[in-house]
Amino acid sequence: LRANFSVIQRDTGFVNGLVVVLHDITEEEKIEAERREFVANVSHELRTPLTTMRSYLEALADGAIEDKELAPRFLNVTQNETERMIRLVNDLLKLSKMDSKDYEINRAWVDFVTFFNHIIDRFEMTKERQIIFKRVFPDKAVFVQIDEDKLTQVIDNIISNALKYSPEGGKVTFRLKLLDDMIEISISDQGLGIPKENLEKVFERFYRVDKARTRRLGGTGLGLAIAKEMIGAHGGDIWARSVEGKGTTIIFTLPYDPEQEDDWS
Ligand code: ADP
Repeated sequence: LRANFSVIQRDTGFVNGLVVVLHDITEEEKIEAERREFVANVSHELRTPLTTMRSYLEALADGAIEDKELAPRFLNVTQNETERMIRLVNDLLKLSKMDSKDYEINRAWVDFVTFFNHIIDRFEMTKERQIIFKRVFPDKAVFVQIDEDKLTQVIDNIISNALKYSPEGGKVTFRLKLLDDMIEISISDQGLGIPKENLEKVFERFYRVDKARTRRLGGTGLGLAIAKEMIGAHGGDIWARSVEGKGTTIIFTLPYDPEQEDDWS
């Protein structure tokens, strides 16, 4: 806490007032420190792919371009790095829109079971590794008011992570549970898990448990931060559960009105 004192004094010299302004500098300093850290993170995240591209382009310019085997590989690296920078900048733009509240949630009534199944089908059809998908859903439609595009992005990110961190032959379980006035969605994998002390931090911007590894896997470190904002904007909550070495579950809730549902049947 910082205190600023101003003495109110008349021309005559009499003091007839004292103004004390108390600033919560801990909060101010925290915001400033976070801002600085964010800028440093963004710079670092952009510099890494840029320096990689520079060395590959230099190698190409120095003659690798004539090498029929090397040239396509080097070009492929620069292409991947470009894609990563585009993903990063897109994620940053999304976050900055969310920060300035410059976005709308376009809610529509959606049967979450059908919606969720479509997303999972897309991943199941295009998966490149041997991973088992298991769905545990209620056997009826569950209508909720959501922004389909925004929640598709959120779920895409969570499933991508679950697949990225899954071992070959691992199982990914998708669950949808009805609570009193919420639905609870969870996505569990059998990957390496997240250490207990980092369970909340993974929802922070740029936080990664293992920076080098997750960057290699192509992530931006912003996916779960965006998910948290989006789920919050829908009136829900998101958190993680994990047992190290056994797997991770990402859980989120969305408001749900069971009464409303009766009108549909
Ligand atoms: P990234 O783009 O790095 O995946 P995210 O915000 O999506 O960024 O995730 C943040 C971090 O949380 C990841 O870098 C990783 O360390 C950890 N994480 C997220 N999902 C999982 C998971 N299913 N299993 C293990 N670690 C995970």
